[in-house]
Amino acid sequence: MALLRIELLGSEVLRQRAVEVEGVDDELRRLIEDMFETMYKAEGVGLAAPQVGVSRRVIVVDVHDPEVRPFALVNPRVVESSPETEKGEEGCLSIPGLSGVVERPAHVAVEGLDRDGNLIRVEGGGLLARCLQHEVDHLDGILFLDRLSPLKRKMLLNKWKKQERQ
Ligand SMILES: [Zn+2]
Repeated sequence: MALLRIELLGSEVLRQRAVEVEGVDDELRRLIEDMFETMYKAEGVGLAAPQVGVSRRVIVVDVHDPEVRPFALVNPRVVESSPETEKGEEGCLSIPGLSGVVERPAHVAVEGLDRDGNLIRVEGGGLLARCLQHEVDHLDGILFLDRLSPLKRKMLLNKWKKQERQ
């Protein structure tokens, strides 16, 4: 296993649409293991492959809930989202030090392949729903900042620029 470098805001790869994975093989399983290790080290609850510079549709999630085991999803797709929404604080390992309140569907179901290539479905609300949507967004080049009001986004970007200078 290896720790991977986390790409930060401003990195091109975070803004690209990640490529569909053709098949689950040992190389991909190694990437998944490395992503888990990198996520745990950074104390995150989710990580998407573009965040480690790999433009492929893979996410890993561990919301530290005894009912939800840590999982990886390959080619994840949100197949259901509730009409009810919920607001919650979000941060991102690619934008350390910044957080904002994002409104999203409160409950989602996501389908994808597990690390053995089997189709699985993960669904839930709360942090799990938020995390799934945040990570799937990454695969489409979308950051939580994009889901804030323009004013709030501007404030956070200013804070980011200040941070970068220090
Ligand atoms: Zn993120």
